Amino acid sequence: MNLVVDADRVLADLKELHERHGGPDGARRLAWSEDWLSAREWFRGKLDEIDGISVDRDEAGNVWVELPGANDDGGFVIVGSHLDAVPSGGWLDGCLGVMGALGVLRALAASGSPPPVTVRLVDWADEEGARFGRSLLGSSAAAGTLDPDDVRDLRDAKGTRLQDALSACDVDLDGAGAATSRLEGALAYLELHIEQGPVLERDGLSVGVVTGTAGVERHAVRIRGQAVQGGGFPMDARRDALVAGARLVLAVREAARDARSRATVGAIAVRPAIPTAVPGLCELTIDQRHPDADALAAMVNEVHDAAARIAVDERVAIDFERIWAIAPVAFDDDLVALGEETAREVTGGSVRLFSGALHDAAAVASAGVPAVMLFVQSAGGISHAPEEDTAPEHLAAGVRTLARLADRVIARSARPPG
Ligand SMILES: [Zn+2]
Repeated sequence: MNLVVDADRVLADLKELHERHGGPDGARRLAWSEDWLSAREWFRGKLDEIDGISVDRDEAGNVWVELPGANDDGGFVIVGSHLDAVPSGGWLDGCLGVMGALGVLRALAASGSPPPVTVRLVDWADEEGARFGRSLLGSSAAAGTLDPDDVRDLRDAKGTRLQDALSACDVDLDGAGAATSRLEGALAYLELHIEQGPVLERDGLSVGVVTGTAGVERHAVRIRGQAVQGGGFPMDARRDALVAGARLVLAVREAARDARSRATVGAIAVRPAIPTAVPGLCELTIDQRHPDADALAAMVNEVHDAAARIAVDERVAIDFERIWAIAPVAFDDDLVALGEETAREVTGGSVRLFSGALHDAAAVASAGVPAVMLFVQSAGGISHAPEEDTAPEHLAAGVRTLARLADRVIARSARPPG
């Protein structure tokens, strides 16, 4: 018998959350803020309406909800996402996955008998990293990949240290690693999320299945030429750091030629930055992504080689500093196949996509838990903005696909190993 999820109620929950913690100027759910705590308090109220579950918070601030299964030592299936949002963000990023998981839990609890295995819902803490610049904080603590010393002294725009902001929410950063116990015995992790890109809309599909998340290589680049008087200095004798930087920006784009590569120069600054001086210094950031590790390495090498040629041509010095990197994460093959089959059944079609953006599911997968994500169409591919939106029929299709997939994964997990 199929699990029956009330997708309309999930949509109503999403709208209610947006009325209380969003509005025309976008989401107000920045992690470790009063707004976020009160959104979580609202969510707690929704959970209190469900019989037979327990709710608690782990050492890293992630909220866990448990519906015990008939076989309570047979492991558990996790469904989740994050309630936190970037400032002035949209109404669906993260919340869709949490409210969808709530819908699944409600349906399971109302079905009259306990699920064959235990089901847990998780609301990860600080997925966005919008305040301190460190994404996936709660999920990487649970995955065992968070080093407190790496993040302790990160500061927000007001100068507050990350460690102190966590402490104000009763989370002890040095104890956060104990959250790893929450993934012990996990059989599968499922996450529903908006696509944040244009592929599903372009292909006229409601739901796609995500094969994994791209690897990221992020560098800060410093180009040193010579600042001189712009009116007086001849063109052929200049050592213009910005001209070299402009050529490098084009080389970054050129190196991202295959359909799965992404490359962004999102920040650039010059000195002395006045109309009458040739820029002597140019600093920029390069963010390169690819789901294949070798292809990502090739992109990085190509840009380094281009920089070496540009440095000679323009007579400048170009230094790269690697500021962040993460390897590509592949989701579980069996779950991807099951997700694709389920999406086809429920919505009439589906496609496999990779995610250029990071998600908590990548942290969970890197801890060895079989994971998969479902994406629902995003209007115009816009997210992290108040304009973020998805038509109700696509949202409902996503919720129904999540429920059907969860039902199948739960049933499959309950089978004795053959
Ligand atoms: Zn998200």
